[in-house]
Amino acid sequence: MIIVLKRDATPEVIEHVAEKIKGAGLAVHISKGKERTIIGAIGDETLLSSISLEALPGVESVMPILKPYKLVSREFSKEGTVIDVNGVKIGDTELQVIAGPCSVESKESIIACAKQVQAAGAKILRGGAFKPRTSPYDFQGLGVEGLKLLAEAKKATGLPIISELMDPRDTDIVCQYVDIVQIGARNMQNFRLLMEVGKAKKPVLLKRGLSATIKEVLMSAEYIASQGNSQIILCERGIRTFETATRNTLDLSAVPVLKEETHLPIFIDPSHSAGRWNLVAPLAKAAVAVGADGLMIEVHPDPENALCDGAQSLKPSKFSVLMDEIRMVAAAVGRTLAAV
Ligand code: PEP
Ligand code: MN
Repeated sequence: MIIVLKRDATPEVIEHVAEKIKGAGLAVHISKGKERTIIGAIGDETLLSSISLEALPGVESVMPILKPYKLVSREFSKEGTVIDVNGVKIGDTELQVIAGPCSVESKESIIACAKQVQAAGAKILRGGAFKPRTSPYDFQGLGVEGLKLLAEAKKATGLPIISELMDPRDTDIVCQYVDIVQIGARNMQNFRLLMEVGKAKKPVLLKRGLSATIKEVLMSAEYIASQGNSQIILCERGIRTFETATRNTLDLSAVPVLKEETHLPIFIDPSHSAGRWNLVAPLAKAAVAVGADGLMIEVHPDPENALCDGAQSLKPSKFSVLMDEIRMVAAAVGRTLAAV
């Protein structure tokens, strides 16, 4: 249920409505937009039948949310969510690009890579420390040491950092270092993990599961939001289909569909979709053209010797050329990408 308050609703009036809803046994989510405040009443709506919400002071209208996802639905907020990560705005007119290696490998390489992607215009640095590898014998990431090296790269460049959280037991330590917590495709439906990051109050980038429907992605985002954290970026990274020419099939239609369904920012990861570096640029440009709010791209100073996902990683020089091309596509669709 959404309760839209009148423009002039005072904090006391808002509090009064919230208390009524809580008193009936439902959870309350208050969203203060530019124009007005709306209150989401989440839970068993039949419990509200004894309260005449429309009659409460300050209430303009009351609407049911018909979708199974409530807090993340477009019905809940017509305005798109803008997430502020240390001054970098995600979901605004300006596109944001997250770039960096698949995994953090050494202090020298992560700092070099951070400087290179920053010079090309990326505003956020990625780097895996806890890696979800298909084989237990492959490089599993440097763990906490990787987070420390990312923090050094942040210190050297000022770039905010993102890294994946795989295990609820690592939530505190990962949140201590990163500016955005990444939930990987393989953990999209790890509901305990989603609830942990929901409590952590850090921006979260939630990747679409390998075989997840759009509704399932949104229900996973709802798990995070239900714990009080609505700073969620959704990321399409390719899904499993019968096609084997690419690592995954990039579902470009997910962007406009998600834009209809949710107010959350939408990113595309062309690297894990393609699996091959030479496909990354065309997919990245298509993603911008179709309305993505940003991109996550794997860049490695020496892809041939990368410990993980070298085949799909761009060299910094190629990444820089792509960023110039993205700037032109962005302009054609009414978006911008910061100049360097
Ligand atoms: C990654 O971004 O490093 C990653 C493992 O991606 P995904 O979860 O999409 O496979
Ligand atoms: Mn990777």
